[in-house]
Amino acid sequence: MGSDSALSSTKLAQIPTQEGESHTPSTALLSFSTDSSDPSNRSQKHTTTIFISLLLITCIALSAASAFAFLFFSSASSSSSPAPPQTSSSLQTTSRPLTKLNHPVVILISSDGFRFGYQFKTPTPNIHRLIANGTEAETGLIPVFPTLTFPNHYSIVTGLYPAYHGIINNHFVDPITGEVFTMRSHEPKWWLGEPVWETVANQGLRAATYFWPGSEVHKGSWNCPDGFCMFYNGSVPFEERVDKILSYFDLPSAEIPVFMTLYFEDPDHQGHQVGPDDPAITEAVAGIDKMIGRLINGLEKRGVFEDVHIIMVGDHGMVGTCDKKLIFLDDLAPWIEIPAEWVQSYTPLLAVRPPPGVAPGSVVGKINEALQSGKVQNGKHLKVYLKEELPSRLQYSASDRIPPIIGLLEEGFKVEQKRTQHQECGGEHGYDNAVFSMRTIFIGHGPQFAKGRKVPSFENVQIYNLVTSILKIQGAPNNGSLSFPGSVLLATS
Ligand SMILES: [Zn+2]
Repeated sequence: MGSDSALSSTKLAQIPTQEGESHTPSTALLSFSTDSSDPSNRSQKHTTTIFISLLLITCIALSAASAFAFLFFSSASSSSSPAPPQTSSSLQTTSRPLTKLNHPVVILISSDGFRFGYQFKTPTPNIHRLIANGTEAETGLIPVFPTLTFPNHYSIVTGLYPAYHGIINNHFVDPITGEVFTMRSHEPKWWLGEPVWETVANQGLRAATYFWPGSEVHKGSWNCPDGFCMFYNGSVPFEERVDKILSYFDLPSAEIPVFMTLYFEDPDHQGHQVGPDDPAITEAVAGIDKMIGRLINGLEKRGVFEDVHIIMVGDHGMVGTCDKKLIFLDDLAPWIEIPAEWVQSYTPLLAVRPPPGVAPGSVVGKINEALQSGKVQNGKHLKVYLKEELPSRLQYSASDRIPPIIGLLEEGFKVEQKRTQHQECGGEHGYDNAVFSMRTIFIGHGPQFAKGRKVPSFENVQIYNLVTSILKIQGAPNNGSLSFPGSVLLATS
């Protein structure tokens, strides 16, 4: 595994490959020079000179020793490889046995739009309890592109990039049938791949979903069973959601679902309204922490907290947007007119499907010529591509559902059709997944997660294999790496 020292950088050159490797060795840190000349080569005539020489050598030796010590500890903490566990349980290499449950259980929690770093905005004692006693992606979880809610939630539960699981945007048009997908579409034809709840049900085990994109869709043996599959209703109080999950642990052992999802709309909801840096976000983060506390307390009361695997993630991050960072398609008119009917989504994912007879390649050429002319407001902050020519790390071309022309915006910028009186500042996500503000959190807590361990950032398509590995069930083929769980989980004893 490569290093991940990207906290100071907004763009990251390194993205894990499908084999979970990353590519930025940090050996430069290990070279240091002691450029004092060696005094022992000179003839020494005076004892004072010898004394001074010895003193110098001692100083150099001490400096070198402390430099080594510093480098050793700093490289360990910057996780150039998964850092060794730092706590008293640091010798722990195998998972802890279950004491009460008779099967491993995973609760997968999503806090929508929980940008990496929000956990430091305010005291979050419950989230930090999971971090301290669990395993954390030290510089956050990397979403898939586009960094939008539905594509990412469905990647987390299928291990597939959007081009392969079919949910390529929150809203899109099937180019063959002309049918429209929205966040309320539950027909199985849209939802490709095999989500974890289906994998679990196919193997005769029970799953439960308290909201998750795709969970209401009937697939395989999963028929969204009454009482174990909640239909989305954003007005259900968060407490009620947590309490329902807890109630499953009051069932007889054999009936407790082995996989459960729990979803909270916050702090994404506030993030869109006010951007990531606002007291409303701080308050929402504190509210999520309270819900984690409620869950932990309920599990403790039932004597199962240490037996349950809690995986807490978000789907993407958030960045502030404001009026001055707008690009208007109407400004491109001197080069090419882009009618609104061609545009499937504007921002932050610009997706354009010209009608038959209009060559996408020539549209891309004209748009980029306009953007680079210096005459289009903010033009240099947008670049459009034929989808096949997008950077391959985005994995965003292998589906007919993806329109042929895709624009990549720099973070914080937005595309609109035309100038309006509507002026506002807020927050957005959906940008390139290499943008640091799009990162979210990953925390794993439970018998197969080492306590106090930090692992390098990874893409959320790895989570499916992690869950099936914890549950010891056969997963469906996916874009994650089969070796990944071994790099994050403790060996089972
Ligand atoms: Zn979201």
